[in-house]
Amino acid sequence: MTRPPLLSLDDALPQLLAQARALTGMQSVSTFDADGRVLAQDVVAALQVPPQDNSSMDGYAVRASDCAQANAVLRVTQRIPAGTHGTQLNAGEAARIFTGAPIPPGADAVVMQEDCEVLEGDQIKVNKAVQEAQWIRRSGEDVTRGAKVLAKGTRLTPAELGLAASIGLAQLPVSARPRVALFSTGDELVMPGAVAPEAMPAGAIYNSNRFFLRAMLQRLGCEVTDLGIVPDKREATIAALRDAAQHHDLILTSGGVSVGEEDHIKPAVESLGELNLWQLAIKPGKPFAYGKVNRDSDIESEGNACHFMGLPGNPVSSFVTFLLLMRPFVLALQGATKTDITRTEMKANFDWPRADKRREFLRVKRNAQGGLDLFPNQSSGVLTSAVWGDGVVDNPAGQTIAKGDTVRFISFAEWLA
Ligand code: AMP
Ligand code: MG
Repeated sequence: MTRPPLLSLDDALPQLLAQARALTGMQSVSTFDADGRVLAQDVVAALQVPPQDNSSMDGYAVRASDCAQANAVLRVTQRIPAGTHGTQLNAGEAARIFTGAPIPPGADAVVMQEDCEVLEGDQIKVNKAVQEAQWIRRSGEDVTRGAKVLAKGTRLTPAELGLAASIGLAQLPVSARPRVALFSTGDELVMPGAVAPEAMPAGAIYNSNRFFLRAMLQRLGCEVTDLGIVPDKREATIAALRDAAQHHDLILTSGGVSVGEEDHIKPAVESLGELNLWQLAIKPGKPFAYGKVNRDSDIESEGNACHFMGLPGNPVSSFVTFLLLMRPFVLALQGATKTDITRTEMKANFDWPRADKRREFLRVKRNAQGGLDLFPNQSSGVLTSAVWGDGVVDNPAGQTIAKGDTVRFISFAEWLA
């Protein structure tokens, strides 16, 4: 019997995103708490930033025509610290001014104090010729009134919070947090803290996936219900999935989604709903699954099914499939316009002589020469590779790499943000 070819990532991702209809429900949150959330409406400025023309230097506001030549002498008639405003400036006059203070009417340039000499009797000498408009920050040069400052669908970062605050917004409209139920499968799994390393029974390993998956979900704005470890039993798996589906938008599992007799996730999802995608032509991460788990008919929730995503158990596979598939999906649920990731062309400083049938994601680190070094052990169980590395090379199926070749690099810093 010949197997059908595995689905490619380029085919799977659009299919997946087509299922990720943005959740309804908008919240107004404090701008302080909006980091990482997705804007649910456009943000429009109700004022100019800066509000008035102001000085970008500590110095003197002047009339440029008074100082067309060096060594002009002016009389200082007013003092304008930031937070105050001045009065009309006449010919032959200068105003002592500080950074951020509004330019007084009549003035059209600022001279920095380093270019002035203070003379007797409230006078200054301006040592250099002055250009009109120098050292003035124009009203509205940052934001003009009525402008769309931030677009709906923007994922907020600290810079956006500052910009929103600069136009007076203490609250921001953001999309609802996806409610995600997380569970790990695997009878070999033991929780750190429950059993000491020296007391680990034969065959047991610590549950590592639970820690990074929960952290990644939280970074992406999800509200996580962590259901812990579900035993490798058909009935227990079905019960956990059915229960979780009622009041969550998405169920995320790790492990148990391959083809062994102890892998119960796939048949359990099929018995409760449908499996839409299973197994991708990627390495690591082939056993990835996506489907839906039906809700009981009396449950009031968005739609009558809960999204399901099954990640492989091997830690690096779990980590990489989360970033490739779960991350864009969760962002799309929040209505984010940008769900893709930057791939930068860089030079490989390594050889990868054996091409794989599947598209590979190789853990690498940038070196001081601007090239990429390869972690020597690319096994999907070796989580050290993700800690040592600062990203992956996205290597097309069937492609070998020779030192000096240009490859596509994805940075963990952007991917995990
Ligand atoms: P599975 O996908 O369930 O066949 O698991 C594949 C491999 O990943 C096995 O070696 C498991 O022991 C390991 N594994 C599964 N889940 C976890 C987990 N949560 N943390 C660490 N390793 C895991
Ligand atoms: Mg397992």
